[in-house]
Amino acid sequence: MTSVMPTYGRVDISFEVGKGSYLFTSDGDRYLDFTSGIAVTGLGHAHPHLVKTLTEQARQLWHTSNLYVIPEQERLADRLCANSFAELVFFCNSGAEAMEGVIKTARKYQSHVGKPDRYRIIVFSGAFHGRTLATISASDSPKGQEGFGPMTEGFDRVPFGDAEAVRAAVTSETAAILVEPVQGESGIFPSENGFLRELRKIADSEGLLLLFDEVQCGVGRTGDLFGHTASGVKPDVMGLAKGLGGGFPIGAVMATNRSAAGMGPGTHGCTFGGNPIAAACANAVLDILLADGFLDQISVSGHQLRIAVDEVAADFPSILVSVRSKGLMIGMKCGPSNIELVDELRRQKVLTVPAGDNVVRFLPPLNIEKKQINEAQDALAKACKELA
Ligand SMILES: *Cc1c(COP(=O)(O)O)cnc(C)c1O
Repeated sequence: MTSVMPTYGRVDISFEVGKGSYLFTSDGDRYLDFTSGIAVTGLGHAHPHLVKTLTEQARQLWHTSNLYVIPEQERLADRLCANSFAELVFFCNSGAEAMEGVIKTARKYQSHVGKPDRYRIIVFSGAFHGRTLATISASDSPKGQEGFGPMTEGFDRVPFGDAEAVRAAVTSETAAILVEPVQGESGIFPSENGFLRELRKIADSEGLLLLFDEVQCGVGRTGDLFGHTASGVKPDVMGLAKGLGGGFPIGAVMATNRSAAGMGPGTHGCTFGGNPIAAACANAVLDILLADGFLDQISVSGHQLRIAVDEVAADFPSILVSVRSKGLMIGMKCGPSNIELVDELRRQKVLTVPAGDNVVRFLPPLNIEKKQINEAQDALAKACKELA
């Protein structure tokens, strides 16, 4: 009997050691990790640069709180801004906290510019934004909401991808539009570039802020530094987390000066947010992500993995019904239950993540090599054969 609250449907397996793209059990069984801890360990396990940074920082200083200036945090904020639309960054510890900060920043902006009645946020079908009270209210998950009511007021849901529905939903109380450039939990649904452009137009013409949730699709996952980069559309405020610390917990709210104008001293805070260890780890992740050619290599690997998956899908069309992807976020819609495929892949020693829409996700490390792509393809073909 475990004393851990049973909120997870866990698989009864645990790992002792991680190295690169692989996880090892105490029995020495080796698994190819195509979960990356749900898009977190983007550089694989025990990356030498991350291990070195973390251990050096651990000897130096762990935590001082945000009572004082944290140089590593300043440097991280500068680098995130230099490589994005943002001019200011707030640090926290998780994706849900980042999205809380995004929502609060949007409400505060409207209040700051003299429109306190504008507090409602347009959100989408299939959305996932986290597990706090506000973020379950923003998410489209009846199971995540059930029994936790009343929900936080002020979220208006419209169909994902439908710009006309957004336009129709705007009222004098609307503050912002919140969207994932690639929906992850609902089953890997990339936003069309044209849809994001329309959202930007609506936000600009109606005096709304455009908010992006890049907790899953940000930090290199799509082959660009951010999931929205290729669209050319810039948000006003954006949340990051998962991959940002390479496995060390850290989240970020990135914003323009204009949209964060109300976020002065005392308005928001987080005890652990951006502490020296977390900020050092995220800086180490950026060292690698921003190095020449690294992001290009993600696109190449994403393309290779997509072709590999498409080949298997062509051989087993009743098992892999359709495939959607952007960079190294790959979703395979299954004929049988997605859990059956996840279980069979695990028997073939490949770890994957289920998602909505009966999808199995491949979220491999961003630095995978052709060898691991081939290994995953073989395992996928074997698993499909087992299930066929
Ligand atoms: C995982 C996720 C979150 C929540 O992140 P946590 O760190 O689990 O709180 C929010 N938004 C998206 C898009 C996510 O994928």
